[in-house]
Amino acid sequence: MVPAHNLTIREVRVRAVQVPLAEPLKTASGEILTAPLVLLDLLTTEGVCGTSYLFCYTPDALEPTAQAAANIGAALTGDAVVPFEIDAKLRQRFRLLGVQGLMTMAMAGIDMAAWDALARAAGLPLVSLLGGAPKPIPAYASYGMVDAKGAAKAAEKAAGAGFRAMKVKIGHADVATDLAVIRAVRSAVGDAMAVMVDYNQSLSVPQAVARTRALDDEGLHWIEEPTVAEDFEGHAAIADETATPIQMGENWWGLPDMAKCVAAGASDLAMIDVMKIGGVTGWLKAAALAEANGLPVSSHIFPEVSGHLLAITPTRHWLEHLDLAAEVLTRPVTIEGGDFVFPETPGTGIEWDEKAVARHEV
Ligand SMILES: [Mg+2]
Repeated sequence: MVPAHNLTIREVRVRAVQVPLAEPLKTASGEILTAPLVLLDLLTTEGVCGTSYLFCYTPDALEPTAQAAANIGAALTGDAVVPFEIDAKLRQRFRLLGVQGLMTMAMAGIDMAAWDALARAAGLPLVSLLGGAPKPIPAYASYGMVDAKGAAKAAEKAAGAGFRAMKVKIGHADVATDLAVIRAVRSAVGDAMAVMVDYNQSLSVPQAVARTRALDDEGLHWIEEPTVAEDFEGHAAIADETATPIQMGENWWGLPDMAKCVAAGASDLAMIDVMKIGGVTGWLKAAALAEANGLPVSSHIFPEVSGHLLAITPTRHWLEHLDLAAEVLTRPVTIEGGDFVFPETPGTGIEWDEKAVARHEV
């Protein structure tokens, strides 16, 4: 076993893939047809390799994100694999540019790969390296925007797979259709299933207030991003008028956004995206802020890494199960009895299915 503190970055290998989705992921603010992913391998001179991936949302961002990761990786050649030091170095390097957007994504990918390398070198799952226990993490099944019939089918599928919670995206032409979708889920699986809904930022503040009030008697677990993600004041106004908890956070670019959102009282809950928040290092900071403010923390996509991180998050809530990278992994995340199952391998458990990667590489 290589002492974890002795790893040195030799090279960051970057590949871009476009992974086909079984069905397009429809939202009220646009459709995702394929998963554009940047795959990172952080190779060390000691022979240990750490892996991670980035989700680029749109193919337009795939090449520049991959290039940013390659550029940053080259700048780190010869550095020690010490994530907090790398984080500080890169924040300083990009001080004048600012730390958000594609650069933050690339930094987060390298950070996740660095933590993975440390855990692999230590022969430990990431959760154990971070001082946590691999305890059951409740997961919810996450679906796109579907009609009432599709929602009932999705609910039956989720219940059949053992999930105790599920989410559908709404924001249909009128609130009656949103209600029909939610009620179709209820009549398919009853009250035992917790139900969340996601507007994907599609409403104005007045529209959102009207719609969320109309949904208040549906017993929803949360209503996600009713208006644009940057509008913390707007979300605060909506939260004031709505009995159902408001969920946001997947679009926080690092801790400063989260801190502003918390200060505005914009969200009753916190949904952390391990990439946009700044990798594992960013999550650790965010988890502390959430604890201090009593905010229950759920994850946003990236289930492989997020499972480990929720286990060490004192206010952990739900893991989102939306597995965009499954096609290129040898061991996609497994959920048993509605809970995230920790892989027994060291690291995060991310390992490329090289044949699949070759099929989808661009
Ligand atoms: Mg969302």
